[in-house]
Amino acid sequence: MPRRIEDRNRHEVEIIEGDLIVDATGRTSRTPEWLVEMGYEAPQETVVNAYLGYATRWYQVPPGFEADWKVMTITSRPETGLLRGGGIFRVEGDRLLAILAGSNKDYPPTEEAGFLEFARSLPTQAFYEAIRDAEPISPIYGYRKTENRHRHYERLARFPERLVVTGDAYCGFNPIYGQGMTVAALDAQALDQLLREQGTADLSGFGAKAHQRFAGAVENAWLMATGEDLRYPCTEGERPGMMARFIQLYMDRLIRALPSDETAALAFMQAMNLTRAPAELFRPRIIWNVLKDTFSKAPDENLNAPRQGHFQPLTAPGD
Ligand SMILES: Cc1cc2nc3c(=O)[nH]c(=O)nc-3n(C[C@H](O)[C@H](O)[C@H](O)COP(=O)(O)OP(=O)(O)OC[C@H]3O[C@@H](n4cnc5c(N)ncnc54)[C@H](O)[C@@H]3O)c2cc1C
Repeated sequence: MPRRIEDRNRHEVEIIEGDLIVDATGRTSRTPEWLVEMGYEAPQETVVNAYLGYATRWYQVPPGFEADWKVMTITSRPETGLLRGGGIFRVEGDRLLAILAGSNKDYPPTEEAGFLEFARSLPTQAFYEAIRDAEPISPIYGYRKTENRHRHYERLARFPERLVVTGDAYCGFNPIYGQGMTVAALDAQALDQLLREQGTADLSGFGAKAHQRFAGAVENAWLMATGEDLRYPCTEGERPGMMARFIQLYMDRLIRALPSDETAALAFMQAMNLTRAPAELFRPRIIWNVLKDTFSKAPDENLNAPRQGHFQPLTAPGD
């Protein structure tokens, strides 16, 4: 299968023959257009866009800084109109990594005064107070291309046999949830597995089979990322059904229970990092703890307060 490679720096065009071509060109992949040019159909796309933007800055920990947390997260609560959130990570070299985020185009500014004002507007002052006197040691970096985009190559009836589209080119996620690299690695693992099963002597139908596997590999991450993004009122994309809404409600309560429940916190981090299936969050012991936490708090505290957590580093049971 020939592929035309253009080196724009050297103004050279080269045709490379290959038995198998893998498109790993990320979100800006042009395979959909190339397919149409070659007489195939472009894949259907599912897009969920919360118009979330975030801004990040590094700080030096100020002298005398004391905190009982390693990570502070303030998550938004779209159902109460709170579309802003943030996180601070205390990392090596006595540094703080501060991230502010806003949805529905309520983007955090990337200039000094606006960034601090956005921090001050959060429903708790803890974030603002942590960075107010800290020395900035980087510019403020902004990022806004955060839509989730699944190109459904697995649904195409006709597709070049030995072409595979993977990673972000196949399915890109809102990067705020930090899943994309793991999913790209899961795709690579699926590809490796399929190559071992099918061998390289006859690659007919390989592309279609690979995309079927990728569809399974991205599923959990897709549900988690879009489930969160679809909470926002102006998010573009198909609204979740009853089941997804129930899961959102449960996740709300679970997140509120995390600072006081190490088992739930560990399971949550593992599910978010895709090292365990999200089904782990529905283990009876965790459900029980979530219910206990829910009923031990006043209704206001449960539903209207901002979700804020101060997490100590977690250790797996038995560590
Ligand atoms: C701001 C931001 C923060 C993120 N944070 C996290 C995180 O914390 N954790 C996480 O897991 N994921 C994160 N991600 C997502 C992660 O970066 C991507 O999911 C992952 O890099 C996808 O890998 P990929 O190989 O599919 O694509 P990419 O990493 O985008 O690589 C594609 C490559 O192809 C090249 N390319 C494109 N077109 C052509 C062409 N025509 N010819 C030749 N080369 C081409 C590009 O230059 C690029 O090098 C983040 C993404 C962003 C944008």
